Amino acid sequence: MTDKHGIQANIRGVSVSKPIVTVCGDGQLARMMQPAAAELDIHLRILAGSPDSSAAQVTRDIVVGDYHKYEDLLAAARGADAVTFEHEHVPGEHSAALIDASFNVQPQPSALRYAQDKLDMREKLATLGAPVPRFSAIESVADARAFFDAVAGRVCLKARRGGYDGKGVWFPADADLDELVAELLEAGTPLMAEEKVELTRELSILVARRSSGEAKVWPITQSRQANGICAEAIAPAPDLSPELAERASALGLSIAESLGVTGVLAVELFAFNGEGGEDISVNELAMRPHNTGHWTQDGCVTSQFEQHLRAVLDLPLGAVDALAPVTVMANVLGAAEDPDMPMPQRVREVMEHYPHAKIHLYGKDHRAGRKIGHVNVAGTSLAETRDAAHQAAHFLMHATWA
Ligand code: ADP
Repeated sequence: MTDKHGIQANIRGVSVSKPIVTVCGDGQLARMMQPAAAELDIHLRILAGSPDSSAAQVTRDIVVGDYHKYEDLLAAARGADAVTFEHEHVPGEHSAALIDASFNVQPQPSALRYAQDKLDMREKLATLGAPVPRFSAIESVADARAFFDAVAGRVCLKARRGGYDGKGVWFPADADLDELVAELLEAGTPLMAEEKVELTRELSILVARRSSGEAKVWPITQSRQANGICAEAIAPAPDLSPELAERASALGLSIAESLGVTGVLAVELFAFNGEGGEDISVNELAMRPHNTGHWTQDGCVTSQFEQHLRAVLDLPLGAVDALAPVTVMANVLGAAEDPDMPMPQRVREVMEHYPHAKIHLYGKDHRAGRKIGHVNVAGTSLAETRDAAHQAAHFLMHATWA
């Protein structure tokens, strides 16, 4: 078989007639696309930084390379029906060059740029009329000072690009502002500031959209962050009014449509007390499967990983109905000290005590605070489901019960 790029679609001597999806990235998100790909007989190829990475451990077709280099992206893209991402860091000019070379890149850089730069994202959402906190570009200490005064000191400073898991987010006090801003600008960190929201909880809208336009939105999820890292997700978000759930869903669909997003889009939301009750504004966008969507693996007809593959291949999307009244996801982070009990034994203990807990491990070595897995529990009682998910995750982290 010879594809449109004149390349023999030939994987290790075996001619391939199945769809080929290249994923740029080698972490747990790419890894978790693999079971969905296997079920649908989609051939997954990854562009991996290392042959031992989380995704490379479970993928046969690996191109080891650097996503900053066009040649490496090209090598991974050859013969693929779609090229997609598990993170936002592939340079837009490289994605554009792949498109010029007639590769099918999803999502396209025209959409992805709004997940790459927080200031571009805020400006775009504001022009679309989406609710966002007050914000400003910060190019000098004077800019930061003026914004600080304008929001009465309730300021959140953010690196425009490259932040993740709360790295690149600061809440400076008056006395620290000037020095922090000067230091960051000196180090070449492009900055923006936004108003610190008195948030009551964080919510997340998860949408999938295919290039021909079909889009679906999962039930709205509540998430809890600890030290900037997602610790828990509950779906559907407890006690969310049907009106707000409807408004949030419509907002997610309209952002996906307006920006031309393809694949999975996560819209992280701040919830706060507004004049008419609970209200929302947008925190940020991620154009890939998202930590707040991991519950869909075990709590939903179609997981975000399967849906992402369907969407980037422009296949009909799967149903997004929840399978249980409530599903809770608890993240497993590396503990301060790795317990002596080996992980396989911890897994055995959790299996023994919590047969309903679905354990997902990422094949990552221990490092304090690192995301190494998560647990999903679907059930009927929020309290019991939550307790089971947290007990199971706690044991996997600490080898003790909470
Ligand atoms: P990252 O890209 O590192 O995930 P976010 O912009 O999502 O960074 O910020 C991380 C966390 O910091 C958010 O989940 C939220 O808890 C808190 N945060 C961010 N921006 C604000 C804000 N404007 N007001 C209040 N809290 C915020």
